[in-house]
Amino acid sequence: MPSGKYYVSLLVETIIDELPKTGSNIGVDLGLTDFIVLSDGSKAANPKFLSKLQDKLAREQKTLARRREIANTEQRKLSDSKNYQKQKLKVAKVYERITNCRKDFLHKLSFNLIKNHDVIAIEDLNVKGMVKNRKLAKAISDSSWSTFTTMLAYKAEWYGKALIKIDRWYPSSKTCSGCGHLLIKDKLSLSVRSWTCPSCQQNNNRDINASINILNEGLKLASIKTVGAAGLA
Ligand SMILES: [Zn+2]
Repeated sequence: MPSGKYYVSLLVETIIDELPKTGSNIGVDLGLTDFIVLSDGSKAANPKFLSKLQDKLAREQKTLARRREIANTEQRKLSDSKNYQKQKLKVAKVYERITNCRKDFLHKLSFNLIKNHDVIAIEDLNVKGMVKNRKLAKAISDSSWSTFTTMLAYKAEWYGKALIKIDRWYPSSKTCSGCGHLLIKDKLSLSVRSWTCPSCQQNNNRDINASINILNEGLKLASIKTVGAAGLA
């Protein structure tokens, strides 16, 4: 490891017991201010210590860049520059800490969702495509959405639960979860946090409305899947 630590990895075969069914289903939307927003109205925020650590990383990286410059102007090789090497290790350690903290956060969150619900519906977001959008880039990379969905997928498999991915073109934000009305002409910019349905007058909180739609769409797909599987048998 760049931080100078060594890791031993062991391969163990275990039988994982399925978790008991809860009778509860949940829709999960990727939030912008929160990490995720759930169809039951609850939210999970990005842990605050992560952004603090990220600030620390930025500071340490600046120091590293400065030491590189000093070594260059003094015409010393980086490998001979003790101060540079020391700082490089420091940066690696902060980076490792961020990675571990984030993984820990995502593991706990994904496990809790799997434990508390039987069907978990999420949007199949194209993260690569989204990172190109500058405004979203930080939010996306910070929130590690793809790592999170991977964790949900294998944990669902392990514990006998179902993860349903919704097509990323499904208009989860622009559909009214009350009556199904679709805002076709109206643009829904990211700054719009809530909107009133012109058809049924329901006031829709942007993120919660989307996660309810994701859940409903997921349940629809789940029942189609079951029918399809039964039809084959
Ligand atoms: Zn409506």
